[in-house]
Amino acid sequence: MESEKKETLNFIEHIVEEDLASGKHEAIHTRFPPEPNGHLHIGHAKSICLNFGLAERYNGKCNLRFDDTNPEKEDTEYVEAIKEDIKWLGFEWEDREFFASDYFERLYDFAVRLIEKGSAYVDDLSQEAFNELKGTPTQPGRESPFRNRSVEENKSLFDEMKAGKFGNGEKVLRAKIDMSSPNMHMRDPILYRIKHVPHHRTGDAWCIYPTYDFAHGQSDSIEGITHSLCTLEFEVHRPLYEWLIEELGIFPSRQIEFARLNLSYTIVSKRKLLELVEGKYVSGWDDPRMPTISGIRRRGYTPGSIKKFADVVGVARRDGIIDVALLEHAVREDLNKKANRVMGILDPVKLIITNWPEEREELLEATNNPEDESAGTRELPFTRELYIDRADFKEDPPSPRKWFRLGPDREVRLKYAYIVKCTGFKKNGAGEIEEIYAEYDPETKSGQDTSGKKVKGTLGWVSAKHGVNAEVRLYDRLFKTENLNDIEDDFKNHLHESSLQVNQKAILEPSLSSAQVGDQFQFERVGYFIVDPDSVANHLVFNRTITLRDTWAKKTGQ
Ligand code: ATP
Ligand code: MG
Repeated sequence: MESEKKETLNFIEHIVEEDLASGKHEAIHTRFPPEPNGHLHIGHAKSICLNFGLAERYNGKCNLRFDDTNPEKEDTEYVEAIKEDIKWLGFEWEDREFFASDYFERLYDFAVRLIEKGSAYVDDLSQEAFNELKGTPTQPGRESPFRNRSVEENKSLFDEMKAGKFGNGEKVLRAKIDMSSPNMHMRDPILYRIKHVPHHRTGDAWCIYPTYDFAHGQSDSIEGITHSLCTLEFEVHRPLYEWLIEELGIFPSRQIEFARLNLSYTIVSKRKLLELVEGKYVSGWDDPRMPTISGIRRRGYTPGSIKKFADVVGVARRDGIIDVALLEHAVREDLNKKANRVMGILDPVKLIITNWPEEREELLEATNNPEDESAGTRELPFTRELYIDRADFKEDPPSPRKWFRLGPDREVRLKYAYIVKCTGFKKNGAGEIEEIYAEYDPETKSGQDTSGKKVKGTLGWVSAKHGVNAEVRLYDRLFKTENLNDIEDDFKNHLHESSLQVNQKAILEPSLSSAQVGDQFQFERVGYFIVDPDSVANHLVFNRTITLRDTWAKKTGQ
């Protein structure tokens, strides 16, 4: 992946370069417009990387705008979380933090302007009654009996709507466009509805709220957004977006649609993710199995890997589904360069070096990161009693050509230490291996090996005396179904039963006793891990970010 250079422009970059070259715009201005009704997910991350990334690339600007026009579902808690997530990804909006609700007054004036032009009217029909008239895509609609109210009447009714004279749903303001348009969004769409609901920022100041279509496009114009990027489902809204700009004679922002990110084995819908949180299927929005930005952050995914992923995925004009293995590959690539290697044994069994004196301790030098020399080295204490992973020993192993690890009379190297030869083992009453015995060869110290011995297997180990016990949370994909867009039944039926396994018995090398929340490591031969905020003094909790097995690299031969 490293070597992949971007040679071609995507269709959005093409448009941007044309607009800059023709002088249509001197600089570009994009925005990321989250609705503060939930936490951001990996799909939003793609949109963030696209909008902020484009502005960075072309020396433009990108605004953060909260699209807060649905007071029932929105909350300041979400606003703060969204900001934290975008910052964590490494993007800056400087002083350009806006709220659609800041524009309520101006949006109201725009609506009045439309009324004055005869391009909007107050409609008394209920939603059901209007739907009766609306027709179907193949059948023209009929006009509301209130469609031809005078400008004066519309103005005073709209005023009264604003003043709180009517109840919820009693009246709406509609654009007066074309009840026989083949595009249903052009059949007199609603611009304002009555909601006697306090807003998280404007309080009780308003009881009428603009619809998405009216607020979004007009906010773009107010901010001078040159390229308003949104997902494909808004393509059918574009004629209305353009109609409103035209009617109001305001800054001509251009809406451009791209395919939303869909990921295999992953849900990217705030509504469904909320359902998982509320139903306690996960521990919260930041459960490390969640595809939310806060979840993948806690899981140990890095901003660099997400940006890289967004870059490789690119933008398309048609919906598709991306293999989650590609994201996981990006995470491994990034962590491989950054994460220090440590010894961590998830399923410990004792290995006793019988020819090593009881009291003797030796400090052995270990490389922190073979991918990064500047990471330096550390010392590992070697003692008579060690732990190795149970899976690294077989009582009755296959041929030495197939099995390089430990077994009776077999030799392996203990990483950074000595070659040891297994001399026996002991089982407990339940028939489980309890202790393994071995002898070390003093001539085989790593880096100073004079024995000429060759062994194929190298095992991780931790001194039993110095090792630290830790809780390790092992995660698998949250869903067991590849394409969750294709299912007909409840998506919750597709949850993976064992997406979390808690391991309380892991033993880690002693240097980890001072690990801090957020520190990331590769447990050699095991996977990448991050220290979880649930850690307390003397009880470290690690999340497994990801295993070392790269199914993407395997599939693509990279
Ligand atoms: P959801 O479908 O999860 O409820 P949304 O589109 O309603 O998401 P918004 O807060 O309105 O969420 O989205 C903010 C921006 O992020 C929008 O521009 C939206 O198009 C974009 N976005 C949302 N989901 C995706 C996705 N899966 N891929 C790319 N962009 C997305
Ligand atoms: Mg939305």
